[in-house]
Amino acid sequence: MSVFHSMCFAPASLLLALALPFLAQDQPQPSILGFTPSSAAHEADIEKKFKSIPSPDEERRQHHIFTAEPHVAGSKRNNELARYIADEWRTEGLDNVVIRRYDVYGSNPKFTSLEMVAPIHYRALLREMPIPGDPDSKNKNISSAWSGMSASGEVTAPLVYAHSGNPEDYEYLRKQGINVRGKVVLVRYSNPYSYRGFKALTAQREGAAAILIYSDPAEDGFKKGKVDPAGPWGPEYHIQRGAITYDFMVPGDPLTPGWASIPGAKRIPVEEAVSIPKIMALPLSWHDAKPLLAQMDGPLAPTDWQGQDWQGGLPLKYHLGGNRVRVHVKIEMDNSTQPYYVVEGRIRGAELPDEWIVLGNHRDAWVFGGVDPSSGTASMMELTRALGKMAKEGMRPKRTIIVCSWDGEEVGLTGSTEWGEQFANELREKAVAYINVDEATSGADFHGQAVASLAPMLVETTRSLHDPSGKSLYEAWKESAAHDRETAHSEPVTDSNLADTRIGSGSDHTVFLNFIGMPVLGLGFEGPYGVYHSAYDDFFWMNHFGDPGYRYHTLMSQLWGVLALRLANADLLPFDFATYAANIREFVNELAKNNEHMWGQPPSAVQPGEARQPPPQDLQPVLNAIDAFEAAGKRLNESVNRTLASGALDPKETATINHGMMQIERNWLNPDGIPGRPWFKHILYGARFTYAHLELPGLTEAVEKQDWATAKQQAEILRQALEKNTKLLDEINSALESGGSGLDH
Ligand SMILES: [Zn+2]
Repeated sequence: MSVFHSMCFAPASLLLALALPFLAQDQPQPSILGFTPSSAAHEADIEKKFKSIPSPDEERRQHHIFTAEPHVAGSKRNNELARYIADEWRTEGLDNVVIRRYDVYGSNPKFTSLEMVAPIHYRALLREMPIPGDPDSKNKNISSAWSGMSASGEVTAPLVYAHSGNPEDYEYLRKQGINVRGKVVLVRYSNPYSYRGFKALTAQREGAAAILIYSDPAEDGFKKGKVDPAGPWGPEYHIQRGAITYDFMVPGDPLTPGWASIPGAKRIPVEEAVSIPKIMALPLSWHDAKPLLAQMDGPLAPTDWQGQDWQGGLPLKYHLGGNRVRVHVKIEMDNSTQPYYVVEGRIRGAELPDEWIVLGNHRDAWVFGGVDPSSGTASMMELTRALGKMAKEGMRPKRTIIVCSWDGEEVGLTGSTEWGEQFANELREKAVAYINVDEATSGADFHGQAVASLAPMLVETTRSLHDPSGKSLYEAWKESAAHDRETAHSEPVTDSNLADTRIGSGSDHTVFLNFIGMPVLGLGFEGPYGVYHSAYDDFFWMNHFGDPGYRYHTLMSQLWGVLALRLANADLLPFDFATYAANIREFVNELAKNNEHMWGQPPSAVQPGEARQPPPQDLQPVLNAIDAFEAAGKRLNESVNRTLASGALDPKETATINHGMMQIERNWLNPDGIPGRPWFKHILYGARFTYAHLELPGLTEAVEKQDWATAKQQAEILRQALEKNTKLLDEINSALESGGSGLDH
């Protein structure tokens, strides 16, 4: 049966093409991972049709609608946009369009103020001034500076400059005799990025009364290049808003950890919620930080402390402070329960409606959300228009494609987490993969993330798309990746390391990967972008710097859709478990390399006549299990290729095989979760508190703490999962070989 009903090829024409070499040369047969030759030809045709639909003009029109007004989570405008999306999807021809409601712990500012009370008086603006030429920057609905999930309170206390607000920064302050207990700390957004919630937790642990996080021009302002409106970098007044939720402990509504906050759901008391910060926080522009820094006394901030320069980009000497400057901070938050809305629509699969490809993008923005997330939202709307148009013409994918517009991502990955928790059991049974797009476009450089089993199909798919530069997306991706790695003095780019398989947190893929055990992909085009989470991240910025012709938005719709279609139409799902095994081996080797203490005493340290202590953690059993998993993955790849090339597939058998392959990712979950963070169940992928990717999270954290009992236990969990999946691969393989044997002879 064909994938899209109205576009059936006569099999005879394909046989002819294969039989005649000259014809085959003129019209090379497309080969696509997971497809037989005839379905690949068919798929290529469907994709051609699909790619022809999204247009830059429509991308721009949708982007303008989504960026017309500020639309923070829980706001009237954001809820209107939910209804707008639902209406559009119904008109476009999507099936079962519903809006799901979740009642969550709210966090909205009622009152925020910051004043310097000594040695001179300064009242912080906490506002962004209009920019010449950008009409949206005058919008009266732009919020003032605030941090999502800040505590409420009031304090007058000395101010201390604590660089990036990471634990080692407080270590340095202690060495200088500066204690921040009861004081207010001023820290900067660091580059490379570390999640502001981690800075807040660190300040809270240090006993600080409040944390002020400002945008230093060295990180995203004039030290980087021209600032908005002359260039893409952050201007004097830009404020990087953002939540400080401790969602690295558990994401989603803090009062329903692990279950959905549907109306009437059980809720835990606020005091028991581990993801709610207990410290006051405010973000600042450098305009507001400069008068404070200029007045601070105490020791000069170091220019080189463990390789880091505490002096920033402002034309003044940064001091550590702690005495002379005193500030008054007052914050009142409204924490009443509020509804968040997830919009869900689908293109029902023609043959396998109970196998799902899930796509998602968040809708809520700190202000207009020019890049984050409305570039992704515009791309999603063009994608659904194209899929809807084809469905109306009778061209449905084989499997079901579900598309979701998430809410409250910016607050704590809330909408996607609640939705995922609500449908966890169904998703574990039916879901093939999740494809996330958050910031679709801030420039021209493609960044593609994938769970390692899907990395080869991601790379392959980019070969069939055209980059606006005139090259294939694959070529363009390779070039920009090579450039990045040259700068970072990292290994050369190859097909097998092009996709980023190190997946941390910080967007809506988290619940699907870490809680449900779904393979995930994440897509984005990146460029110089200094207005993140500020009021200047808007339509003007996109039209002048990010993607003036909306060509990358269009390419994103095409790429996102083609990936979804390949997963939806594949005969045998395009998972590559041999690649997965090689990646896991890399994770283990890296762990061993970064933690020499796990090898025990180096031989040189052993005194003559003394026996060498055995290493506290032996990774050999895990490495052996990886070898077995890899061998099974290679055997399966060979049988899959043979079966697909033969072109003959039995539907019952393929169903068994595909379901087996879907189960592999689920088997990486440990129901107990990683130690201390039971919600995060994946044993291969996790995130540090900074949001940075953390491979083998349970094992790595135990090794880093030198907690050898836990490390042994985590290594054993990993070994058992590898063994279980090796067995499963072997079962899939024998199902395939017994089915295919009749065809071969
Ligand atoms: Zn975002």
